[in-house]
Amino acid sequence: MSHATSTTPGSPVVLDWRHGQIGPPAPCVLCGGLTVCRSPVKDVPCHKGCAEAWITTHASTDADRARLIAAHTPAKGVT
Ligand SMILES: [Zn+2]
Repeated sequence: MSHATSTTPGSPVVLDWRHGQIGPPAPCVLCGGLTVCRSPVKDVPCHKGCAEAWITTHASTDADRARLIAAHTPAKGVT
């Protein structure tokens, strides 16, 4: 466990936001650009792409990335 080779830059993070809501255009909490997309977990204006990029940037390990993806993906069946 001394060599960490599990991080793979360029490997895309893909969030499942099919259950996400939309609303009036509002500034994205990450980039400030207008978006109608709402984070289905935090209920704030946020581009899906920005959230995916944020996770890519902030996850230090594959396990951490998986945890962040899970944390930002709504539970199945929840409306
Ligand atoms: Zn954005």
